Amino acid sequence: KTVKSPTQHQPSKSISVIPDAGAGDRVRPCKGQAVYVYDAEKSWREAIVLDEDHAHNMVTVKLEDTEQIASCCAGHVLLCSKAPLEDVNNLTHITPVHEASVLSCLHKRFAQGRYYTNAGSTVVAVNPFTDVSHLYSREQIHAYHSRQQDLPPHIYPVAEAAYTSLVRELGKVNQSIIISGESGAGKTVSAKHLLRYLTVVSNPAAEPRVDSSDHRGVKIEQRILDSNPILEAFGNAATPRNNNSSRFGKFIELQFLRSGHIQGGSIETYLLEKTRVMHQGQGENNFHVFYQMTGLKDCSEEEEFPDWVKGIQAEVSDVSFTCVPHNQDCSANGDITETLDAMIDIGLSQDMQEQVFQVLMAVLHLGNLRFVQVNDDSSDLEASFNSSFESQGLDDSVVEVSVCERALERSCQLLGIEPSCLKHTLLHRSLQAGTRNRQSVFVKPIGIQEARSRRDCLAMLLYSRLFEWLVGFINMQIKADSFDNTIGLLDIYGFEAFATNSLEQLCINYANERLQQYYVAQFLENLQKEYTEECLQWVPVACMDNRPCVNILDGRASIFSLLNEEVYLNRKSDAEALKDRLLQLCGHSHNALRPVRRSAVTQPSFVVQHYAGEVQYCVEGLITKNKDDIPSDLVSLLTASDNGFVNQLFASYAEPESPAGRKKKTVLTKFKSSLDELLSSMGESDIHYIRCLKPNNTSTSGLFQPGYVLQQLKACGAIETVNICRRGYPARMPYSEFQQRYNVLLRLRSAGTGCHGDGLGQDEGEQKENICDPLDLLLRQQLEFPASPKRTPTPRKRL
Ligand code: ADP
Ligand code: MG
Repeated sequence: KTVKSPTQHQPSKSISVIPDAGAGDRVRPCKGQAVYVYDAEKSWREAIVLDEDHAHNMVTVKLEDTEQIASCCAGHVLLCSKAPLEDVNNLTHITPVHEASVLSCLHKRFAQGRYYTNAGSTVVAVNPFTDVSHLYSREQIHAYHSRQQDLPPHIYPVAEAAYTSLVRELGKVNQSIIISGESGAGKTVSAKHLLRYLTVVSNPAAEPRVDSSDHRGVKIEQRILDSNPILEAFGNAATPRNNNSSRFGKFIELQFLRSGHIQGGSIETYLLEKTRVMHQGQGENNFHVFYQMTGLKDCSEEEEFPDWVKGIQAEVSDVSFTCVPHNQDCSANGDITETLDAMIDIGLSQDMQEQVFQVLMAVLHLGNLRFVQVNDDSSDLEASFNSSFESQGLDDSVVEVSVCERALERSCQLLGIEPSCLKHTLLHRSLQAGTRNRQSVFVKPIGIQEARSRRDCLAMLLYSRLFEWLVGFINMQIKADSFDNTIGLLDIYGFEAFATNSLEQLCINYANERLQQYYVAQFLENLQKEYTEECLQWVPVACMDNRPCVNILDGRASIFSLLNEEVYLNRKSDAEALKDRLLQLCGHSHNALRPVRRSAVTQPSFVVQHYAGEVQYCVEGLITKNKDDIPSDLVSLLTASDNGFVNQLFASYAEPESPAGRKKKTVLTKFKSSLDELLSSMGESDIHYIRCLKPNNTSTSGLFQPGYVLQQLKACGAIETVNICRRGYPARMPYSEFQQRYNVLLRLRSAGTGCHGDGLGQDEGEQKENICDPLDLLLRQQLEFPASPKRTPTPRKRL
């Protein structure tokens, strides 16, 4: 029995075979040597060379831990590292470095419970999927903050580096930490740990800022931490990939004084996946908060809840809501107590909380509204139609009349609107005609499909406004009056490729594409440039370039421009025609966009080759979602509400009535500009990276699937990073700072050579000369730097 021939493995263009990754890997493997061979199923595996066949350039190997013998092409066999990989804290210290040794290192460390590994100045974090709270204790925070020696890799040093730069004003004024990785890789959990680290180290013994009686004198840092359970309750949901998946992007900015004291913060959110409120795919759930409302009934501390909470509890257990699918594992949804406590801490009064939950309850009831078709062009609510069991819905099952009646009555009661108004607005569309001076409004009944989409639109509108309002409220409660500098934490949804992908995935994957481009440009290329400028020996490394893909997404003639044009010109192209137009964008020079290969695909679709993998997008629905047309009737309905809170939610909602001649912005346009803004503000800061990896695709603890991890490593360009950093130097410091810190060495030299002064006040050229000599001295005295073992000697002329 043999493994599949390694020759069948197609190395990826840029990283699989590294032409210049150190002499080690090009050495012909010889008998008895430990090597890696590629197995299509299990990725790279360790093996021992049994025999060599020089004539045919083949080797025979025995696979580790088995009796399996395989023969492979010698060129596709990679040499193993001699050092025990589990002890390697920094991937840049592996020799030889290639995808197999990097993967093996992470695998071995994972098996030993070492989930963090450095990759140059980046940290690779493999999701433990098990409780490792001892890694995040206060003692650990203090250990990393006081920079104790010999601490293992962790995400804390990343936060520490950002914080130190900020306090000691080493780099740019502001700092950012980008946490990336696919869904379920551990971004949000990491962001929470970083946030906690920064709040602990930045103001350990400060008194609460007593500026408002609302939040019980809760310290600002606690309030910032409290924003998390609220945002997660309203913005996270259980999906097959992650039972606490963030369905929005988040950029948290912590605001500091120059002294390093935390003063406040602000939160920016991106593109909440609001369609989830009414529609969930197979195995997907609604947002956590809805389950928290239903989970109340089993709560033993029930007695402690105020009456209004008990009221919700009673109502939710009484009615079954169609937009809340049954959730097998309710533990992931969080606890209402935590959400309510966080709301109180942040300053949301009982009264306000009740209002928030009333809107949620109204959303649930709206989901229970059912329609029946009267004729092609008109429909009615099921309750008011004689034969209510004639429902012809595609996705609607027949529900009892009383549920629908109750839904109408209760949702209107909760929202402060007249049932007859809601009914009329859901079943009719108003059309404006005439010139600006002489306008007439026609009202026209609508068919069942349109009525349903109006109902969904209303529920989504309410929910997304509520989310925005909450974010706005939190921001008001945590913002600093004044501050000097900031540390930003970006936790944005990871790359997604589902069976059917739509506008949400297009936006998410586009954001990841832009971040990757940013990463390559900012980090890898800058690093190379710096080396060239410093006249250090440098062999350029080809970076994975995703510009063709970004261009096909947002460039001049691109997927975005076409989808926007459809909206602006109000074209009614059918999906097939639109797909053809999109595919005409395919260029000859790149293959970032291409048709679907398999003929079995029924719906018109196209494929985008993203840096992290290919994704097939379904054309159907793209335009509607991009248009995100919110009928002005619905907004008017809510602005006319008797309920003060609902009024407040929509008071500043000016969007639907765009001024004449001005195009209403599409979802894609808005998303792109908020991303542009984010990236340009991050461009003003020093950026630190954390790469989260998912060890397996079933969220199982203790399981490491090499092939699955390798895919992610390739996708984020981790091996390129290692290669570049390995050839570089681990620390970088301006001459002046080096001089200040190691002044004692300069003095040493002065004493030895009779040279005067401490080097301060000299120009940079002189400084460099003076610095280099003491380094010579150090080398002569054979004092060791903690550098990688196989480093080429430091160039003497430069630092
Ligand atoms: P992402 O935000 O990348 O989609 P999450 O941060 O929500 O992923 O993590 C998904 C799940 O993985 C969490 O709900 C938790 O169960 C587990 N997890 C992530 N990071 C850790 C960690 N550091 N320790 C233990 N479990 C973790
Ligand atoms: Mg998340």
